[in-house]
Amino acid sequence: MFSASFSHQLVRSLIMSSPDPIIVFDADWQILALNNAAETTLSCSADAVVGHVYTDAAPHTEIAAILSACHSGTSWRTNDKVYQPQLYNVGEESLIGWVAVLRDITQIDKLNRSQNEFIRLVSHDLRSPLTSIRGFASMLSAAGALNEKQTQFVEKVLSGIAQMTALIENIQDAGRFDPETGFYEMKRTPCDVGMLVRRIIADHLVPAEKQELTLTVNLVEPLPIINADNLMLERAITNLIDNAIKFTPNGGLITVHVMVQGGALVIGVEDTGLGIDAEDQKLLFQRHVRLVRKEHQRKAKGSGLGLFIVRSVAQRHQGEAWVVSESGKGSTFYFSIPLSNANLIAQR
Ligand code: ADP
Repeated sequence: MFSASFSHQLVRSLIMSSPDPIIVFDADWQILALNNAAETTLSCSADAVVGHVYTDAAPHTEIAAILSACHSGTSWRTNDKVYQPQLYNVGEESLIGWVAVLRDITQIDKLNRSQNEFIRLVSHDLRSPLTSIRGFASMLSAAGALNEKQTQFVEKVLSGIAQMTALIENIQDAGRFDPETGFYEMKRTPCDVGMLVRRIIADHLVPAEKQELTLTVNLVEPLPIINADNLMLERAITNLIDNAIKFTPNGGLITVHVMVQGGALVIGVEDTGLGIDAEDQKLLFQRHVRLVRKEHQRKAKGSGLGLFIVRSVAQRHQGEAWVVSESGKGSTFYFSIPLSNANLIAQR
């Protein structure tokens, strides 16, 4: 269609005129081009860096941070702008280079922040009236003077309140634990994850029994005591067990595994439930993603925040979250806490 020299010039003009900063590398990470927007953002001239492997170029810490944001799917910030960097490979048959494109999301980020702040205030204010409604409804049922129908109604009120409280808790956690915009300050204490898991399981035995599910634990000893945020771990594990209960049909088995693997403490919740199609697995840990392919998934209540919270908890501890699943056979959701740096109890 186009001659090689026309295509070359066209691509060059597109890159140079883009308002988004763009950095072009060859397959060995030597910088081939930097457009004007990238020069301004990185405060360096193209002449000074082109021809150098990026680790030898002056703004190497910034470029390394941009590439690491590309891999983790997080944003990269300057003093006054927020970018979403994306890395594309160049070459059809064999790899000949890379292009990093930094999309300016400063406005979206501002909107997200004000939306988060609004949600934080509203969800906080919703909690107090809910607590008093739950208190009065419990007093009604404890008073004992209700007939069968009235008792049923009070139970429905209490279960509705429990659902609303869980939803508000998830909305709050998703906002405050968010590794990019969350304002939650981690409180690390020595944490025995095996004991924590046993306690959370004890709290879930009744809902599991209601669905004829067996809920067990598999602690692969010896397990280290880690220096982690207990509340965050509890919220992550609780969300995974809640999901396993929600998405496993009656008669199934749920096992919570805790083990050391690849230099990290790994927590896995395995179920014999619906499973997840391979193409859906990548999306799950994003905010507000809910699957609707299967009847059971469509009917289950939820906000699509649980797995986002699990990933946020893992990331705030420098770990990650992932799933291994086969549709129709079950899933195991994992998250890891690396046994390094701040996660280690200080050695005397
Ligand atoms: P929620 O459960 O509130 O919808 P989550 O972020 O916890 O939000 O989960 C997102 C989606 O992932 C769920 O809506 C469901 O479709 C799917 N999912 C989560 N856990 C499981 C599981 N154990 N088995 C099958 N599907 C699951």
